[in-house]
Amino acid sequence: YFKHNLAQIRALLHTQTKICISVKADAYGHGAVAMAKAALTSGASYLAVATVDEGIELRAHDITCPVLVLSLCSPQEVSAVVENDLTPLVFDTEYIDLFDKAAASKSNPFVVHLAMDTGMGRIGCLPEEAADMAAYIDSRPHLKLGGVATHFAVSDSISEEHKNYTQLQYTRFHDAIEAIKQRGIDPGICHCSSSAAIISRATMQMDMVRAGIIAYGYYPDQITKSYLEEQGIKIDLKPVLTFESAVVAVRPFTAGRSVSYGRTWIATSDTDIAVLPVGYADGLLRRLSPGLQVAINGKNYPVRGRICMDQCMVDIGKNNPNVKRWDTVVIFGNKDDGALQTADDVAASLGTISYEVLTGLSKRVPRVYIS
Ligand SMILES: *Cc1c(COP(=O)(O)O)cnc(C)c1O
Repeated sequence: YFKHNLAQIRALLHTQTKICISVKADAYGHGAVAMAKAALTSGASYLAVATVDEGIELRAHDITCPVLVLSLCSPQEVSAVVENDLTPLVFDTEYIDLFDKAAASKSNPFVVHLAMDTGMGRIGCLPEEAADMAAYIDSRPHLKLGGVATHFAVSDSISEEHKNYTQLQYTRFHDAIEAIKQRGIDPGICHCSSSAAIISRATMQMDMVRAGIIAYGYYPDQITKSYLEEQGIKIDLKPVLTFESAVVAVRPFTAGRSVSYGRTWIATSDTDIAVLPVGYADGLLRRLSPGLQVAINGKNYPVRGRICMDQCMVDIGKNNPNVKRWDTVVIFGNKDDGALQTADDVAASLGTISYEVLTGLSKRVPRVYIS
């Protein structure tokens, strides 16, 4: 499904547009190294991480492509960024100087990308400072400007106001790049679009796009499949990950017995309770109960009582022939894998977005890859 999604993304882009895949936060919970390798054999030429450690993990697994570090690092991490040939986003002279100093021992100039804050309000220099900052990087003896980046604040929204704001950010970015060129400086690879803009605004792809959530099969917020169809854009994304557990015990309960901490659920009639070895320490958030349903052999069953750290209990009804001990339980994911809900559905019930549900899957959940 990941490769399918990458092919879908590729089909929306000009042939010369580079693809950078965001594998930050352990590839949105999917496992960074496996996803990074799959991305590089499926049309991506750049990867992006948030932290230096995430970048080092890729390098430790023989991944040699350019790797952008999207967040800022500490002064103590600067030498590791240079040693591992990661590409930082920079935007102020103090931070730029740290890299220039650390790169002094290198035989080749060290590549950095200039981050511009065109309206996200996070990191970056202001557009009107960009040409000066590019000139500053250009004048550092050990650095080379390899690219210029910005990030949109509301590209996942379909309101007119937000669409205009994204256009304004793009125009500011475009004009600042022109100003850099006017100074006689090559801005390098210019990139601004993340998932939402990639699928809804083909005109903003520039030299490279940074795809995250769409690679993992989810539409960003309001940029839904049906919205895109109305716009005449055809793309079919498939959730990559299916979160599964298993029935490790089936226990008969008589009316009046309670389930889990706090005794928040008491059986009103005789029923059978299935025990699952999954809990909030795995990313199955405690506040999902009551309300969460899980799929067993194609049917939904409600979680009863509080979700514990490592276990939870599901009401399967009395003598249910559909559920046996050791059966697979599908919590969310791809319907072809038996899921009856997606990470979007779980996110909606929590008032959040798929990103948070996916990245919330903890390290101890084994990642199993089917290729
Ligand atoms: C996380 C991130 C992305 C990817 O975002 P998606 O919405 O998942 O595509 C791109 N660029 C920056 C700067 C990011 O922080």
